[in-house]
Amino acid sequence: MPKRVVIANWKMNLLRAEAVELTSGIVSNISARDLENVNVIIAPPYTCLEAVGSTINNTGIELCAQNVFWEDSGAYTGEISADMLLDLGCSWVIIGHSERRNILGETNSMINDKILFSLKKGLRVIFCIGERIEEKTRGRTLSVIKKQIEIGLNGVKTAQLDNLIFAYEPVWAIGSGITAEPQDADSVHLSIKQFVSDRFNCNTEKIRVMYGGSVKSGNIDSLIKEPNIDGVLVGGASLDKESLIRIIRSSGV
Ligand code: PEP
Repeated sequence: MPKRVVIANWKMNLLRAEAVELTSGIVSNISARDLENVNVIIAPPYTCLEAVGSTINNTGIELCAQNVFWEDSGAYTGEISADMLLDLGCSWVIIGHSERRNILGETNSMINDKILFSLKKGLRVIFCIGERIEEKTRGRTLSVIKKQIEIGLNGVKTAQLDNLIFAYEPVWAIGSGITAEPQDADSVHLSIKQFVSDRFNCNTEKIRVMYGGSVKSGNIDSLIKEPNIDGVLVGGASLDKESLIRIIRSSGV
């Protein structure tokens, strides 16, 4: 069975010293055995990437950026390229997070450019998808997600799917304290796997889908036991050392 995945998204939180303190606390409490069945990926803000990268060096924990731009270099004030992230030791990047879609106006087509560019450069991608509450209420969850996948993965080759995982994050569950019912999330994950496997003509086992949205130490057990939940993307709770450690350990069981 492939390893489960736990992604800690620290969003726009923590100064460097705080990020190093939190990372050191995780590193010293997580054993090689804890990591046997779980891939742990930490996504600090850009300003902490280097410091966190040094702290996790040789631990097996991987470094992830929260965003990337779709050009190599040039007049793109404030943007960061894939090469810059690779240079800092990132192996992963989060693309399409709902906060970037909804607050920063990222479109499916911009997300597609970022995914294509990152994969070409050798950065592995955590592709976030999910519906808003009004879309869920109108029964449009699957059609919204299908559109995000169709456009977001336009031009991606089947072989490149090995370097991409999905994060199903219902927007109404992110930071709200409301988690999707584990069985409901599982059924959306299964639909995502079926849709992607049809679209790319590949096996559903190849497709890995994480759940994100108010995951905590108190609900991880019920989520992770679902057959199509391959891991979790954790925001708020990943800023708390004890919670994150508990989530990592529970995910490896
Ligand atoms: C997220 O950052 O994608 C997220 C799911 O946040 P939270 O766990 O706080 O809901």
